Amino acid sequence: MDKLIHGTAASGTVRVLAAITTETIAEAVRRHGTSPTASAALGRLMTGTLLLGSTLKGCDRLTTRVECNGLIGGITAEANAEGEVRGYVKNPLAELPLKENGKFDVSGIIGDGMFHIIRESGLNIGVKREPYIGSVPITSGEIAEDFAYYLAKSEQIPSAVLLGVRLNNREPFVAASGGVLVQMMPGANDHIITMIEDTIINAPHITEVIDAGAKPEDLVKLALGEIDFEILDEKPIQFKCNCSYDRALKTIASLGRDEVESMIEQDGDATMNCGYCNESFVVSAEGLREILAGY
Ligand code: ZN
Repeated sequence: MDKLIHGTAASGTVRVLAAITTETIAEAVRRHGTSPTASAALGRLMTGTLLLGSTLKGCDRLTTRVECNGLIGGITAEANAEGEVRGYVKNPLAELPLKENGKFDVSGIIGDGMFHIIRESGLNIGVKREPYIGSVPITSGEIAEDFAYYLAKSEQIPSAVLLGVRLNNREPFVAASGGVLVQMMPGANDHIITMIEDTIINAPHITEVIDAGAKPEDLVKLALGEIDFEILDEKPIQFKCNCSYDRALKTIASLGRDEVESMIEQDGDATMNCGYCNESFVVSAEGLREILAGY
């Protein structure tokens, strides 16, 4: 099962999160039928959202939204504190040829636009608070760099972010997926920062080590090298959506009496599709009549 770990190093001045997300991203790719490059983009965004969501105390839900003018049209990923994540892209079949270095042209299908991070809190205790929204322009479009830019610019936390998705050509199509987030907290000394930078520059690509069977701890070592670290927390992660038949009924009911009546007259039933997980819920004519009776 996929797992995320949270650790600390250098007397608490370095925070590190690492996750293996291979099965989680395979599930997203299976549900949305994404092209290879769109799969890489979605997998990177979902993994980064999981990592960042786990760093924020008191944040119940973190949503990352890429609003862009490239072929993919936009990407959204949402993670909660329980390690559940869901996500989708606007145009699942968006595709471009591989770049000269053999990598997916993720920045090519994203193009220009904005990178938004939305944090919500108080959900678990039923308190409705205004969400916090931070936005920066897309600077790289390769996603890991965009998370790092957001953290430096919007939260003033110097960070290194590594995200990777490796695909193969047979089901479940995702051979390896995961990420590491390293944050320099106040008091981090320059020597440690330089050591980490050097380690990361010389490290093998993250998907190479995941494909070879790495655990999250191995990803931490890949980023921190010789620096000792302590694991504070670990949790399983999975693709999970909170849609349901009952939610579909509520959504239909919110459309109003006239709309529900015309659904019965024109189609006989109604099909609701959840954009996040691509699940469909069919509400029969009888179910629609029950909604009408409830107004
Ligand atoms: Zn859903």
